[in-house]
Amino acid sequence: MGMDIGSTASKCVIMKNGREIAAQSVVPLGTGTSGPERSLEGVLKESGLSQEDIALTAATGYGRNSIPQAKLSFSELSCHAKGACWLFPAVRTVIDIGGQDVKALTILNGRLDQFVMNDKCAAGTGRFLEVMAHVLDKELSEMPELDARSKNRVDISSTCTVFAESEVISQLAQGVDICDLVAGIHRSVARRAASLVKRLGIIEPLFLTGGVAQNSGVVRALEKELGLTVRTDPRAQLAGAIGAALLAWEQIREEE
Ligand code: ADP
Repeated sequence: MGMDIGSTASKCVIMKNGREIAAQSVVPLGTGTSGPERSLEGVLKESGLSQEDIALTAATGYGRNSIPQAKLSFSELSCHAKGACWLFPAVRTVIDIGGQDVKALTILNGRLDQFVMNDKCAAGTGRFLEVMAHVLDKELSEMPELDARSKNRVDISSTCTVFAESEVISQLAQGVDICDLVAGIHRSVARRAASLVKRLGIIEPLFLTGGVAQNSGVVRALEKELGLTVRTDPRAQLAGAIGAALLAWEQIREEE
C-alpha cells in the first residue's frame, strides 16, 4: 500500500504484485484532518481487504510521518519520480503541481536525477486555483470548460495570490468575461510552472502529476507556454501514492 498524505488531499493505493492497482482512493482533505484515515478506509473497502492483508505500507507527502500503519516513508520527489515512470515509462521530465507546492524533476534510467521546487508561495499551486474559483463562485471542475470558452484571455499581472485575488475581483467589477478571467488564471499557473521547469532544463517527454493535472485548462496553457506536448494521466494525482507502493514492493523483493 502507498499513501500520499499531502497538504490538501490524502491519496491511497493498494497495488498487486507491484504491477496493477487493486484499489485507489482520493479524499480532498490533507494532513491533520480525517483525510488520511478516510482514504485508508476507502481503499480497504474497495478492495475488500483488511490492514492485516497488506504486505507493507509506505507513506509519502507532507504528512508522511503521521501514519501509524506506514512502516516506511519516502520523500515526495522519489515517489513522484517512481509513480510517473509507472504511469508513463518514457517520461524524462515531471512537473508536479500540488495543493501548496510545485516541483519539477528530471528522470534518468527510471530514477530521480535533478529537481527544483517552489514551496514558499501559493502562486502557481492548486491553492491559487482554489482561491480564484472561490472568488468566481465556481467549482474547480468547472474551470477547464470556462477556459475553453474564452475569446480574449485576460493577463493577470500580479504574481502574489493575495494581489491576484484583488486583481480578479476588480476585473469582475468592471464586467470582464469570467471565461477570459479563468483563462488568465490558468495561464498564470502555467507561467509559474514553466519558469520553474526551465530552470531545470526540459528533456522530453514531459509528464504532469499532482491534482492540478486534472485541470485540462492548465495542461493546455502549459503546452502553449512551453511550446511542447504535456502528457498526463487520469491517475496523475495518485503518482506519489503509486510511487510509495512500488518502493514498498521493492523493499519486500529485496528482503525475499
Ligand atoms: P497535495 O499532495 O499537495 O495535497 P494534490 O497533488 O493532491 O496536492 O493536489 C491538490 C490540488 O488538486 C487542489 O488544490 C486542487 O487545485 C487540485 N484538484 C483536485 N481535484 C481537482 C479537479 N477535479 N479538477 C481540478 N483540480 C483539482
